[in-house]
Amino acid sequence: MKRRDFLKVSGGLSTHLIVGGSLLSIREAEAQADLPIAALQKLLDPARDLVLVPSSKEFEKYNRSFNKRTQITPRVRVVVGSAKAISTTMLWAAKNGLRFAVRSGGHSFEGYSQSRDLVIDVRGMTDIELSADKKSVSVGSGSSLGSVYKALWPSNLAIPAGSCFPVGVAGHSLGGGFGLLGRAFGLACDSILSMEVVDATGQIRIVSGQENSDLFWALRGGGNGNFAVVTNFNFRTSSVRMVAKFGITWTKPVAQAVKIVQAWQQWLTDLPPAITGVLRLKKGQRGQIELHMFGLSVQSESNLNAELNRLQKVAGPPDNPAKTSTITFKAAATAFDGNEPLDDSVIMKGKSDYVTDPMTDRGILTLLNGLQKAPVGIAVLCDTYGGAINKIAADATAFAHRGNTKYSMQYYMQWPNQAASSDNIAIMQALYASMRPYVSGGAYVNYCDLDLGAGFAKAYWGANLPRLMKIKADVDPKNIFSHAQSVPQG
Ligand SMILES: Cc1cc2nc3c(=O)[nH]c(=O)nc-3n(C[C@H](O)[C@H](O)[C@H](O)COP(=O)(O)OP(=O)(O)OC[C@H]3O[C@@H](n4cnc5c(N)ncnc54)[C@H](O)[C@@H]3O)c2cc1C
Repeated sequence: MKRRDFLKVSGGLSTHLIVGGSLLSIREAEAQADLPIAALQKLLDPARDLVLVPSSKEFEKYNRSFNKRTQITPRVRVVVGSAKAISTTMLWAAKNGLRFAVRSGGHSFEGYSQSRDLVIDVRGMTDIELSADKKSVSVGSGSSLGSVYKALWPSNLAIPAGSCFPVGVAGHSLGGGFGLLGRAFGLACDSILSMEVVDATGQIRIVSGQENSDLFWALRGGGNGNFAVVTNFNFRTSSVRMVAKFGITWTKPVAQAVKIVQAWQQWLTDLPPAITGVLRLKKGQRGQIELHMFGLSVQSESNLNAELNRLQKVAGPPDNPAKTSTITFKAAATAFDGNEPLDDSVIMKGKSDYVTDPMTDRGILTLLNGLQKAPVGIAVLCDTYGGAINKIAADATAFAHRGNTKYSMQYYMQWPNQAASSDNIAIMQALYASMRPYVSGGAYVNYCDLDLGAGFAKAYWGANLPRLMKIKADVDPKNIFSHAQSVPQG
């Protein structure tokens, strides 16, 4: 929601009413939530902060999240318009013994931005401002990726981040943030210069390489609902005007598809950092496998074509000639977004793996046979790492999957009815189990997965886990930032 719409909704209502367009009285709201809402309301700014209980008019709109499977209803949601409001709400929560979750874009696969008690929702903070020298951009943590791209492309600038516009910049960047500028400019977290946060004591602090540097380290890759609420990011901008976009598809029987994946892995070894791609594997027509690779290059289309020819020499000819075009970053980003509506919700499950040594033929065969035989559609998206992502030392930020990481694999599945959830999840779990011998054991926190069980923290943060746990104990000794897979204390 844009600031001006937000003010339209909340402004003008007297403070004895719940804001958000509802005529619910404070007394009714307190009875419904069984909480002293009036005390909170008195401390907030009715023109900027929105307090919602389930019967408030605006409640459903704000409650919707990407994954319907994990969506729950809180007793109260506070859509905060400032760092001060976050601090106030956190202190009120502590006084009333309430657990809370922090929500930005609401795309957490496992619903870690949801709570049965209180949600502190940062979508009231969406200001985006380019610095005078255009080298950095200040971004309110309630902004979506799309709104950041849109604010920057008139200046031929971008931050490297994911493709789907409605994803929240906060959850995305705090967990890493891979996108199609990744090999050229790094992960979204790698462009963070500083952040404003509200810490576990309710204090507003700046974190950067110079101030609170441990927290700055931890938040870049380990920051999702773990240490503090980020209210504002200062990102370094990267110059991007024209890009070369590509798409190439093969549809082949499993045995040939194995060879193409093998060729693709080999191709990655010498791939220039200018090119970032995703290889999507899924069941094709008539028992075949569809391999679709897409992405973009920040260098010329002729360089890109030379690289795609190099791949085809080993992989063999695709279904149709590779499609390439030189377009603005704006046009490429818009095309890759796929126009997911801002309020879209699906029932889904995701999982992830990392590949650090090229996968063996046997591993690829296991994967492709699994996809081909699965009674429901599962896609595996392989995100190419290397380039600027791997240039940064694996212990320079909390994001550990660098070094010899070749690519991540995201297992993705969605279906229309909740009744099918446990059967479908079991199918994905079986495929994932069959892949254990062929992958590194690492997992991507932004593709969070409850099935990781007790090993989740090691899988997400690898060798960075002990330092993260120590910082957790130092900055959040009462563990007020906690969810099913939050960083354990050291
Ligand atoms: C459709 C879709 C497309 C995606 N595409 C990509 C992609 O291209 N590349 C990629 O790397 N990932 C991608 N992801 C994964 C995405 O990066 C993560 O789901 C990310 O965590 C979502 O952030 P969010 O703010 O939207 O979600 P939320 O659910 O709001 O938050 C996710 C986590 O971050 C925490 N959090 C949110 N805001 C704050 C804050 N201000 N301070 C502290 N903690 C906070 C929450 O508590 C929660 O734990 C995609 C996910 C989906 C569903």
